[in-house]
Amino acid sequence: MIKRTVSFSKQSINVFFHILTKCNLRCTHCYINPDEHGTRTLSIEVIENRLEAFMEKSPYANVIFLGGEPTLHPDLPRAIQKARAMGYKSITVDTNGFLFHDFLEKVLPSELDFLSFSLDGATEKTNDGIRGQGVYQTCINGIQKAVSLGFHTSLIYTVSRTNIHELSLMPALLAKWGVKRFFIQVIGLRGNSGKINADDAQVSRKEWLEQIPEVALDAASRGIITTYPKVFLSPEEPFACAGLVADNYFIFPNGRVYKCPLCEDFPIHGFHFSENALVRTPKINEMDLFELTIPEGCVMNKLIQPDNLAYEPDGTPAYKIACCMLKEEIDPAI
Ligand code: SF4
Ligand code: SF4
Repeated sequence: MIKRTVSFSKQSINVFFHILTKCNLRCTHCYINPDEHGTRTLSIEVIENRLEAFMEKSPYANVIFLGGEPTLHPDLPRAIQKARAMGYKSITVDTNGFLFHDFLEKVLPSELDFLSFSLDGATEKTNDGIRGQGVYQTCINGIQKAVSLGFHTSLIYTVSRTNIHELSLMPALLAKWGVKRFFIQVIGLRGNSGKINADDAQVSRKEWLEQIPEVALDAASRGIITTYPKVFLSPEEPFACAGLVADNYFIFPNGRVYKCPLCEDFPIHGFHFSENALVRTPKINEMDLFELTIPEGCVMNKLIQPDNLAYEPDGTPAYKIACCMLKEEIDPAI
């Protein structure tokens, strides 16, 4: 079992496609910001056109359908089938577990690479405190039904000060439920999270390093492929901005397309859809920020969530903050 850093690559495109922003939940840390992302539900024709636009850029594209809650879109099964027919290399749906419109009955397990559930606590008390009453049980029911039907399932756990104490309980639960992949995420201060005190949301470097790699190893030892963001880099480790060296696109219903998720609360998107064409947004935008080099690592981190930084007495940063897209992965099969 080897831990490896997933290197950035321009070989394939990752399309994070928010097909609507509507959601049945009101999670305390939700990053969706309707003022910046719109409230539209895209028609299936627009979804197909936008999928086409990325296939034209690269035949090696992966798509992750997101919302809001993407299963609230009645045409999600058709969008999945269309993406498959166009040649998307992998197709994932991220869901809160409610699985509207009989989603599991309208998609075949073979049409979807992963159905990814979000859960933010190992107990009902913690998860439902963040995601809403009754969500824990509904999500678990959804996972178990999906697994029993043969879907490959994954689970996303967004670590914050509110739920880090329960992360170590997750690997045993995931193994029991038959979940194949575990994505540990770190809370970003955007959307609703941007409105809460940073100290109440972000965990320290010490807490992160003491707990996250150990939990990831535990999950991997149970046969679950586990991924977590690196977050903190020692001063000697190389820093790279995915905005420059990878091809990730975060598409929103209002037509904005970002290359950096930390920029999503601001009208600084690098691209947008004009009719059905993907076009560069005039300067100044996020792409100009990616070029800036600072000793703290990620520029956007310093701008929007600097409370996770620390400095030596002489003013030099004690460590760098990695790009939020830089991940460590432990695959039990390797
Ligand atoms: S985090 Fe996801 S499930 Fe929660 S309110 Fe936001 S879009 Fe809905
Ligand atoms: S998170 Fe930071 S390093 Fe990563 S793409 Fe955004 S600006 Fe670049």
